Amino acid sequence: MTVTTRFAPSPTGHLHVGNIRTALHNWLWARKAGGRFLLRIDDTDLERSKEEYVAGIRADLAWLGLDVDGEERQSERFALYEAEFATLKAAGRVYACYETPEELEIRRKILLSRGLPPVYERKPADAPAPEGVAPHWRFKLDHGAPIEWIDLVRGPQHFEPKTLSDPVVRRADGSWLYLLPSVIDDIAMGISHVVRGEDHVSNTAAQIQMFAAFGAKPPQFAHEALLVGTEGKLSKRLGSLGMGKLRDAGIEPIALAALLARLGTSDPVEPVTGLAPLIASVDFARFGRAPARFDEAELALLNQKILHHTDYHAVAPRLPAAIDEARWNAIRPNLMRVAEAADWGAVFDGPFAPPAPEEADRPVLAAAAAVAPALDWSADPWHALTEAVKAATGAKGRALFLPLRRALTGRDHGPDMRELLPLIAKDEAVARLSAA
Ligand code: GLU
Repeated sequence: MTVTTRFAPSPTGHLHVGNIRTALHNWLWARKAGGRFLLRIDDTDLERSKEEYVAGIRADLAWLGLDVDGEERQSERFALYEAEFATLKAAGRVYACYETPEELEIRRKILLSRGLPPVYERKPADAPAPEGVAPHWRFKLDHGAPIEWIDLVRGPQHFEPKTLSDPVVRRADGSWLYLLPSVIDDIAMGISHVVRGEDHVSNTAAQIQMFAAFGAKPPQFAHEALLVGTEGKLSKRLGSLGMGKLRDAGIEPIALAALLARLGTSDPVEPVTGLAPLIASVDFARFGRAPARFDEAELALLNQKILHHTDYHAVAPRLPAAIDEARWNAIRPNLMRVAEAADWGAVFDGPFAPPAPEEADRPVLAAAAAVAPALDWSADPWHALTEAVKAATGAKGRALFLPLRRALTGRDHGPDMRELLPLIAKDEAVARLSAA
């Protein structure tokens, strides 16, 4: 079996982290099996679908490094849906309905008030059709055998078809709801695995019967527990947290992927620098049924950890010219975001205004300014400088190191000075010490 997965967003808005997680899992699964990953644009809702969102979806996938092996658009496939619909109609598996939304709502309330499940009640087949009303269409569930499948995340699933409403598949204006075109496409595109959120579980029950109605074997299903915010539910914030916001916050795509690949599993989130280890380890059996908590603070921390061992060549195009490989290696343990590298450019090359020294630090700084010009900058100048200043002033520990760090970098914290100092030109360093 060739593994083929698909990510099937509706282009009616920007992707949020929950959507991109679904995309990632589909992609990882396909790549692990050496299979195919398709992007299916579910744009049957012509009114709400927008080209800018399609472009945004493509850009977000590309940003994350999720390459696609093909793209399909449902709006270009209406002729196929029409033909398959005709087949179902001829087989008596779809039927016309005439209820107004108000009637349906009243029925629903009556059933609920009697303590009954609000399942749609079919009209007798010979009920007269009201005149001049365009029907909408429902798929007729087969009330025979239970619907069962082994879900790759949830395990064995069981639905009694009688407890489900016949789903509406087509509106009175002829437009399609999501359920039926999705099945037609999954068959036509040879989808082997449908990976999506658990909000689709009962859709799957109906869709399994649709596969059967077309004489097709259903794909395997993996329904994942939903993503929730730190407060334990799908917050507004999370629902609108798009790639643009994360990008602006300096989150690296690999950090997001590393988190989303493991969230909801009991496996640790690891600071990987490429997708390969995430592909190798993806396994739906590792996902639990409890909601997966997405924590932006955890993501920021992971981002930082990943930067600490990110290779220069992976970020070079985004670094200012002043930051070469040695400088990157020196500063990366101190970065939260790549963009902060730019702040370090001035620490290396100036312009630099040293902070006014504290009175108590003046002897250390004066000694440093005196010995620095004679130091060999190619052989561990930090060690030589601190030894010479210590010998001259008796200062040691923090009283020795902090004033020097401040005078040389303008900061109290930062990279190892042994690594940093040789990367500041000697003249520049001497000038800073003398100015202080
Ligand atoms: N367009 C559907 C959605 O976004 C696709 C669901 C599926 O993967 O089948 O919910």
